[in-house]
Amino acid sequence: MLLFKKIKDLQNHLSTLTGTIGFVPTMGALHTGHISLIAKSKEENEFTVCSIFVNPLQFNNTSDLQKYPRTLPSDMELLVSAGCDILFAPDASEMYPDTKEPELKFEVGALDSVFEGALRPGHFKGVAIVVHKFFMIVNPSNAYFGLKDYQQCMLIKKLVTDLKLPIVLHFEATLRENDGLAMSSRNTRLSDIARHKAIRIYEALQYAQAHYRTQNITMLEQRCKSWLDEEPLYRTEYFNIVNAETLLPLHSLAEPAVALCAAFVDEVRLIDNLVLN
Ligand code: AMP
Repeated sequence: MLLFKKIKDLQNHLSTLTGTIGFVPTMGALHTGHISLIAKSKEENEFTVCSIFVNPLQFNNTSDLQKYPRTLPSDMELLVSAGCDILFAPDASEMYPDTKEPELKFEVGALDSVFEGALRPGHFKGVAIVVHKFFMIVNPSNAYFGLKDYQQCMLIKKLVTDLKLPIVLHFEATLRENDGLAMSSRNTRLSDIARHKAIRIYEALQYAQAHYRTQNITMLEQRCKSWLDEEPLYRTEYFNIVNAETLLPLHSLAEPAVALCAAFVDEVRLIDNLVLN
C-alpha cells in the first residue's frame, strides 16, 4: 500500500493509473465496518483509495475533536491486510491551508435542521466541504459510505446530485458486533457495563421494525425512547421513525421508512438506525 500525505503527490500517482478508482473516506480508528467498505471497493474497482482525516470542520465540540482516537499505525496494518492500494492521510494544514473557512456552493438544506443536523450545528456543512474536496482531489469512479451514518448518506447523495458530480455512490449495510451493537470507533470508550447496555439501541430499533405497521407511530417512538431511558445509563436524544428519503414524518405506511436513534450511553454518544421496509 502506498501512503500519501500531500495532495500533489497523490494526484501525480493517480494520473499514472488506468482503471476505475473506488474511494472510501474515513476518520481512521478503523474497524471491521470500515474494512467492509474497502472490501466492497476492491471487488468493484481496479484501485482502492482510502482517506484518513479527522476533519476539524465537522466537529462542533472541540473536546470531541481532541478525544477522537488517532491510530494510524494499526489502521495501516488493517488496510494492508485488506489489500487497500492507496492511503491518503493529509494533515489539516494540507486540506485547509487558508485560515479563512473554505466555502462550498451547495445548500445543505433541510438535512441541517433535523436529527444530527439540529443537534450538531455546522456538522453537515463541514462534512460536505471535506467530502467535496476529497472528491475533487481523488476523482473516483465509485465512492463507498456506510448506512450506519444514515443522514450523512442522504447528505452525500444530495451533494452529488446538486453539484452533478460524475461519481457513483454506494451505501453499504451497517456491520454489527455479534450482539447487534453497530460497530463504531466510539465503542472502545464504553465501560464494560455501558458496552453491555449499549445493545438496547439495536433492540429498540428491531422492536420498532416489528411493530411500526400495526402501532401508532408517535406512540411507538415514545415507547422506544422511554424504554431506552428506563436504563439509568441512558440519555436518549431522539428515536424517530421517518420517511427514509426525506427524513420527514411518515404520512403513510407505503412510504420507505427508517428508524433513527441517538443516545448517550454513560457519556458516549452512539447513533444507529434501521431501514424498516
Ligand atoms: P468514520 O470514520 O466514522 O467517518 O466512518 C467512515 C465510513 O465508514 C463512513 O461511511 C461510515 O458510515 C462507515 N462506517 C462506520 N461504521 C460502520 C459500520 N459499523 N458498518 C459499516 N460502515 C461503517
